[in-house]
Amino acid sequence: MIFAMQHLWEVDPEIARVIQDETERQRNQIELIASENFTSLAVMEATASILTNKYAEGYPGRRHYGGCEYVDVAEELAKLRAQNLFGAEYANVQPHSGSQANMAVYMATLEPGDTILGMSLAAGGHLTHGAPASFSGTLYKPCYYGVNRETEMLDFEEIAEVARARRPKIIVAGASAYSRNIDFASFRQVADEVGALLMVDMAHFGGLVAAGLHDDPVPHADFVTATTHKTLRGPRGGFILCRSIYARDIDHSVFPGIQGGPLMHVIAAKAVALKEASTEAFRQYQAQVVANARALAAALVERGYRIVSGGTDTHLFLIDLRPQQLTGLEVEQALDEVGITANKNNVPFDELPPTVTSGLRLGTPAVTSRGMEEEDMEVIAELIDTTVRHISDGKDLDAVTGRVRIFLAGFPLYEDM
Ligand SMILES: *Cc1c(COP(=O)(O)O)cnc(C)c1O
Repeated sequence: MIFAMQHLWEVDPEIARVIQDETERQRNQIELIASENFTSLAVMEATASILTNKYAEGYPGRRHYGGCEYVDVAEELAKLRAQNLFGAEYANVQPHSGSQANMAVYMATLEPGDTILGMSLAAGGHLTHGAPASFSGTLYKPCYYGVNRETEMLDFEEIAEVARARRPKIIVAGASAYSRNIDFASFRQVADEVGALLMVDMAHFGGLVAAGLHDDPVPHADFVTATTHKTLRGPRGGFILCRSIYARDIDHSVFPGIQGGPLMHVIAAKAVALKEASTEAFRQYQAQVVANARALAAALVERGYRIVSGGTDTHLFLIDLRPQQLTGLEVEQALDEVGITANKNNVPFDELPPTVTSGLRLGTPAVTSRGMEEEDMEVIAELIDTTVRHISDGKDLDAVTGRVRIFLAGFPLYEDM
């Protein structure tokens, strides 16, 4: 038995209770938030380790503090494993998050006021790709591409048009709510035509790239940023891959540019996750993630739902709820009541604000980590559909809640804990 928390119960029972309640919540809900996952216990052991005590500003072999000989080994392992797994010339594994990985690349390459071209938030991009609410949209001059109105997919004619008109210094590819494979060679072509740098943000689909199931950004991009906690199933954090000519600039930009001491316990856990991600078992896991996303989307189509762009190549997809005359907010809340966790999300060309939305984003990394397969996606689609229909007919949802609990009993989570 690990994580008994005997000290925590003694010192701070309120927080111990929070952790216990959250553990039960994670066990008792069908987790379909596309950016979430369940790490291994090995990753959690490293994250919860004594390395949290260590200050290690700087980089292995050139730290501002003594006593770094062991944490240096952890960071070197994490760097090497990231480089080897993705075939990159250089890796910086210190960013505390995906957003900070992106910030570090911008700080290394742009001056305030420079132009950045990214996917609009409304079309599925991330805040840090130039959204007005983010530093990336206030410090830099943002311009955006979206998706084609007909296909709801990236349209390189449009991307090239915006790039020619706005001459960005950097083009950002990657998204948080886009279900299709992204063609990085085409992005490179546009970047070359207008003399821009290319950054690929694989925060969401990094695990698929590691498994060879998504177009590989590394040969095409000057910089690749990622998170470790989404499809990669590691601790919360970020990292940056780049060509070696940019190594010094990126290192300097992360520390002392935007961060202080690195989180060495998290970096050790990143090393563990990257080791796990290089196994055949992980490749099979990612293949199942994609198979499950396809199966779930297909099972929902069968029940009359419209999937944005008609399907998915990845771990996620969007349901357009306009045919059901429901909002993302209403459906998110109803699903929450029965123990199915997902998030409302704007669909392309949505007329409702992000606080309401016409869509729902569903992802399969977490349910696949619990051991679910295609036939289980049928069950989930049926549970979602029943819940959605009960919003309209006003029937109570208790029976669905009960069925969710019984279904999940077949997929135990963290049994050793
Ligand atoms: C999740 C995400 C990030 C940011 O990650 P955080 O760790 O939450 O800061 C950046 N880019 C994209 C595309 C993402 O989906």
